[in-house]
Order: sequence, then structure tokens, then C-alpha cells
Amino acid sequence: MLDCIFCKIVRGEIPCAKIYEDDLVLSFLDINPISRGHALVIPKNHYATLFDASEEDLKACMAAAKIVARAVYDGVGAAGLNLLQNNYRAAGQLVDHVHFHLIPRKAGDDFMRSWPAKSYGEGEMQKVLNAVKTKL
Ligand code: AMP
Repeated sequence: MLDCIFCKIVRGEIPCAKIYEDDLVLSFLDINPISRGHALVIPKNHYATLFDASEEDLKACMAAAKIVARAVYDGVGAAGLNLLQNNYRAAGQLVDHVHFHLIPRKAGDDFMRSWPAKSYGEGEMQKVLNAVKTKL
């Protein structure tokens, strides 16, 4: 995509702090990191979201994410690491080129201290399960 910022990075029109590259995937440091070493893994092909991306590119991204996760984790001396992926504005997606965040964590840091987890009401879990499974 001509005006996509990550496509511009893939084409070399905008610089990035490149960590890893192969035929299908590019990985670089996030410019506004949640923690030191926060990295992004993207397919070189343009897809807006997870729902649009090809299986081949997603597999390549996951394989690369594993390699980069290890490098980031060891490189900054992390104690943990989150793999995150946002789709659509409601989920916090700002760049409409599918990407995976690798976020190194330290014990007691202030990012996502806990999930806002809730329990299901009586019978609700089964209803949700049914609704989801009809869409497979
Ligand atoms: P998301 O909210 O999941 O769409 O995340 C987009 C991420 O891309 C943010 O964490 C930004 O800091 C990051 N980002 C945006 N532009 C650049 C850039 N030119 N180089 C590196 N990271 C970027």
C-alpha cells in the first residue's frame, strides 16, 4: 500500500531499527516502546488485520516472532515477554498493517499488571461457546 507507514518501512522509504528480516517478514524496534526492546514483527505483504492475512504470512510471522522474542528477551535481560496483536480501533490498533508486538517485561513493571478478568454468569459460558462454534 502506497501510504501505509509499515509498507514504507518495508520498501526502505522510512528508516527503522531493523532486528530481523527474511523473504516474508520484517522485525524492528517500536519507535514508542512500552519497554526497552519492544519490537514489532510484520509481514512484508500488506494486510490490514489478522483477519485479512494469509496463512503463509502468518506462519512466517510466528516463526520470526519466536526468533526475535528470544533475541529481545535475552538482549535486554527481560524476566518475561508478552506477544500482543491488536485488530481495529476498539482493540487499540493504530497502524492498519497487521503486526505483532513483542514486549519484554520486568517483574513488577507497570504494564498490564493484571487482566480485568470477570466470571461468566449462570449458563452464559455455554451460550458464548455455542455462538462462537457456529462461526467456525
Ligand atoms: P498498534 O496500536 O497495535 O497499531 O501499534 C502500532 C505501533 O507502531 C505503535 O506501538 C507505534 O509506536 C509503532 N510505530 C508507529 N510508527 C512506527 C515507526 N515508524 N517505526 C517503529 N514503530 C512505529
